[in-house]
Amino acid sequence: MFAGLTDKARAARINRTLATLYPDARCLLDYSNALELLVATILAAQCTDKKVNEVTASLFRRYRSAADFANADPAQLEQEIKPTGFFRQKAKSVIAACRALVERHGGRVPESIEELTALPGVGRKTANVVLGNVFGQPAIIVDTHVLRLAARLRLSKETDADKVEKDLQALLPPGEWTAFSHRIGFHGRQVCFARNPAHDRCAIAQWCPSRP
Ligand code: SF4
Repeated sequence: MFAGLTDKARAARINRTLATLYPDARCLLDYSNALELLVATILAAQCTDKKVNEVTASLFRRYRSAADFANADPAQLEQEIKPTGFFRQKAKSVIAACRALVERHGGRVPESIEELTALPGVGRKTANVVLGNVFGQPAIIVDTHVLRLAARLRLSKETDADKVEKDLQALLPPGEWTAFSHRIGFHGRQVCFARNPAHDRCAIAQWCPSRP
């Protein structure tokens, strides 16, 4: 209990306030289909969405299908995605995931968490990004912002992303999961910074046990 509220009631108030504050909260990666978002999310590990968008603007003109990525020359793809960092591993992941898409799913991106996370290099975060944004399925997306704010807001005591995802699922109705993830992402970027969070201009401070 904090401020006389259950965690569920607190999460609801936080979510409502953030919804008013960030009515346009959304995924900041550019994409026009599930495959593009899958690839963009793999490239977004340890990189800003802005940088990924710069790279994918031309990348997605050259590679239009899972087969295009599956048959990519690794060295060439590495160079094309180099600005996103960790480019060797990311090129491997993109090619391996797209080979699996071709072999197991006829080149289509599957719509279940089980099938998505069975793809090489695709974890729950990446799968949830695709499920929540493209397929309209309820998805808590535990990225760096959600992980940090869930801890600061004490909506979860866990540090493992999968466990944090479960805790947040229990606190919010499924219809709010994806939007809540985006709202938290916006708040993390604009107010609750990793270093020096701006507590004094935080609209949800009254429900935050970490406020000074
Ligand atoms: S009060 Fe501070 S720690 Fe809590 S959510 Fe706001 S900025 Fe983050």
